[in-house]
Amino acid sequence: MSSTVDWQGKHVTVAGLGVSGVPAARALHERGALVTVVNDGDDERARAQAAELEALGVTVRLGDGATLPPSTELVVTAPGWQPDKPLFLAAAEAGIPVWGDVELAWRLRGDDGRKPAPWLAVTGTNGKTTTVRMLASILRAAGLRTEAVGNIGVSLLDAVVGETEYDVLAVELSSYQLHWAPSLRAHSAAVLNLAPDHLDWHGSMEAYAADKGRVYEGNTVACVYNVADPATEDLVREADVVEGCRAIGFTLGAPGPSQLGVVDGILVDRAFVADRHKQAQELAEVSDVDPPAPHNIANALAAAALARAFGVQPAAVRDGLRAFRPDAHRIEHVADLDEVRYVDDSKATNTHATEASLAAYDSIVWIAGGLAKGATFDELVIGAAKRLRGVVLIGADRALIREALTRHAPEVPVVDLDRTDTGAMSEAVARAAELARPGDTVLLAPACASMDMFTNYNKRGEAFADAVRARADESA
Ligand code: ADP
Repeated sequence: MSSTVDWQGKHVTVAGLGVSGVPAARALHERGALVTVVNDGDDERARAQAAELEALGVTVRLGDGATLPPSTELVVTAPGWQPDKPLFLAAAEAGIPVWGDVELAWRLRGDDGRKPAPWLAVTGTNGKTTTVRMLASILRAAGLRTEAVGNIGVSLLDAVVGETEYDVLAVELSSYQLHWAPSLRAHSAAVLNLAPDHLDWHGSMEAYAADKGRVYEGNTVACVYNVADPATEDLVREADVVEGCRAIGFTLGAPGPSQLGVVDGILVDRAFVADRHKQAQELAEVSDVDPPAPHNIANALAAAALARAFGVQPAAVRDGLRAFRPDAHRIEHVADLDEVRYVDDSKATNTHATEASLAAYDSIVWIAGGLAKGATFDELVIGAAKRLRGVVLIGADRALIREALTRHAPEVPVVDLDRTDTGAMSEAVARAAELARPGDTVLLAPACASMDMFTNYNKRGEAFADAVRARADESA
């Protein structure tokens, strides 16, 4: 399919200012499109963004994101906008296509005559950012010009239309973005895992899975799936791919043919070798992965699979993994105090992420709670009960976790903190320290969103780390 569009005089409605709307409006305007931006909000930030665009000649309508301008030929939407919004229903009725930010970037790649960089795409419920950054680190170690793009760092659109030239892009894609990206065709892609999340947006688990599965459509070399999560393999089976494209599994166990896995502490490739029935290629050691927690080794294997699909040599996989450092608040080791390790996984905002986090330590004082977003905690508590030394609960929905603990781990001591002020995290850390014994890990892995007490998960993690460091200073 030709991806080049004649934009001259085309009436495009950009739905939503925000992070992706402004660069989208600008890029379309530069190409000669007649752009109208519609936005629900009419606050100070929106007005500042609007003024900037209006100065270029873009029309901006603040305070009404529901009505479709009558001359619209194409809608370009911010990925988070719910698909049942009246604007989209009106577009569907009139047969007007709707593209998300990813679709727009995909369509604009190469429209300036440069050879477009292939995309290696990563999606999944948890681990996307980590995996994409590991992948970029590996690609860089292989001497390739690349960047981790998408939900992180450089925007996808900037990477595609900006000045910098890339050999390949490591692209993080959310389910929202995939929903609105019908013609995206990645070189290779991975779905890391599938657990219920954002179901209010997608409508059902089936719809959520189907949107994630779009990442495999039209892959040319490899569809990478998680052997431990058969739903991801089902998505590969359902995808329409280019002939010769292979299904490649990753597993924490010994790999079968066409899989990457782990043997005696070594990450091993049995997929991208001359004879996958007889040969196995060593890639790196488990200890090269930071942190070497099981779910993170799975992320490393997925990143390695995509890099190997792109032709990267084993030594670069090892060097790239060694050079990689995790982002803040993702199983971040803060300090050791009185032989107790303090770990900040504030980014564990849902139960699936928290399950992975709790599985990484043997004896844990768990700090949890916040906004549950409709989640239930029984399975999480059942899985972790044996490893819990104690629990400190914070936040609006902490009763839900306490009830699950009463049902499935009644012997585990629980401290229930009924306060939401700025000092609450200090008290949580102090109470956790009382419960902990030498060799334990105090783990902030809330399984909940943070907005009841904090601006975001970063602030929650910082509050935890500050409280831990303050204790360290006191005892110094
Ligand atoms: P995402 O970009 O998908 O939100 P991140 O890489 O930012 O993922 O990690 C978010 C959180 O999810 C981490 O703090 C960790 O608790 C958890 N996590 C990371 N990788 C995995 C995985 N493969 N499986 C389950 N949980 C994971």
